[in-house]
Amino acid sequence: MNERNTALKFAENNYNKFQKTLTEFLEIPSISTSAENQNAMRLAAIFVENYLQSIGIKETKILETAGHPAVFGNYASKKKNAPTILVYGHYDVQPPDPIDLWESPPFSPEQRGDYLYGRGASDMKGQISASLAAVESILQNGDPHLNIKFIYEGEEEIGSPNLPPILKEYADLLKCDVVLNPDAGMISPNTPTIVYGLRGLAYFELKIFGPSHDLHSGLFGGIVQNPAQVLCDLISGMKDQDGIIQLDGYYDDVIELSENEKLELSRLPIRDSDLLDQTGVRQLWGEKGFTSIERTGARPTLDVNGMLSGFTGEGSKTVIPAWAMAKISMRLVPNQDPEKVHQQLRRYITENVPDTVTWDLRKFAGGRATIANTKQPGVIALAQALQSVWGTKPVFKREGGSIPVVSEMQKTIGTDSVLTGFGLPNDNIHSPNERLHLPTWKKGILALIHFFYNFAEFYEN
Ligand SMILES: [Zn+2]
Repeated sequence: MNERNTALKFAENNYNKFQKTLTEFLEIPSISTSAENQNAMRLAAIFVENYLQSIGIKETKILETAGHPAVFGNYASKKKNAPTILVYGHYDVQPPDPIDLWESPPFSPEQRGDYLYGRGASDMKGQISASLAAVESILQNGDPHLNIKFIYEGEEEIGSPNLPPILKEYADLLKCDVVLNPDAGMISPNTPTIVYGLRGLAYFELKIFGPSHDLHSGLFGGIVQNPAQVLCDLISGMKDQDGIIQLDGYYDDVIELSENEKLELSRLPIRDSDLLDQTGVRQLWGEKGFTSIERTGARPTLDVNGMLSGFTGEGSKTVIPAWAMAKISMRLVPNQDPEKVHQQLRRYITENVPDTVTWDLRKFAGGRATIANTKQPGVIALAQALQSVWGTKPVFKREGGSIPVVSEMQKTIGTDSVLTGFGLPNDNIHSPNERLHLPTWKKGILALIHFFYNFAEFYEN
């Protein structure tokens, strides 16, 4: 029996043990956003470090940050010039509220049927345990001719504020040929999925100032311009009836989809009827000339996230508001620069705002979109691994959301991430009754074993 088969056998014989360790991990309430859970955060970091040690990762380190610590691990191959995979993960979880909607307590994991219930089961302690189970199965076999590094942060659910400094400080330590990020999910249990693109984000707050204070609309209505109206006029001019964004130069840097990519995206088993169900809208709407999958994956957007102005209480009050505010965000696609977009928005307002008001535009943190080269060894190794276990080609997906850590890794350590994961759309992540589909999780462990060996073989000669 070759090493790969021995490792796969080992995993199959040890699912119960893996699940037991995962259960202990899930019992730690590592809620990063809550001040009361500082101790639990530390415990979870130590748990991860001990876990790494127990599977043969001798070199481990807790990396202190201004917030919650990160955990580093390193398995150094005896083979000279062996390739290096950096495995990323986050050990923090979302708060479990509202707690009374949980059928079993969020931090007392319970198996019911094929599912393991508990906060973090899917996002992403289950994915961490799948990665570590795969590494354990490989290492008990001897040296895989592969360096495997680990970085586990404790602040993903609060926007990874202290990850960039860590990546910078330890850039040499974290050097690798590819990052494995198993924090993405699958489209369905039978559709292994590789995410190769993520949108970026630019986020703004626009404020329009009119009179020095709210005015009586009877005394002053008709002689002053209403800032709420001005704000609405500005916003309505930002996009036309076909959903095309009107900021000058906005699409200049957008890379058009190739025919091949369009074909690949059209293979994704996501139908408009599913999207209608998920959103509850009467009809879908978006940029003319593109499918829904293209619109969310490969086209940029501009959306109002919230508005505030004047009197919004019960009943009526006749005022002309002193100011009006809108939060506006844009999801960006590869090659778009958040700062350039910021300047385009600023120019649009300058050119279109009337002289009757003053305005202020604030820019919040955002990030660039990322796209991985799907021809690189890491992606090919993963695609083959998923196919070996599921017996079907994985689909390649561009995700509409943003994962800041992916662009941060690209920026600071200069490496692409391959994103996958074995969570399912109905795992209730961030919601009550979060769960992990155990049969898919077990397949995931086997797929990762294949992935590590596939990747090592690429560099074998
Ligand atoms: Zn996550």
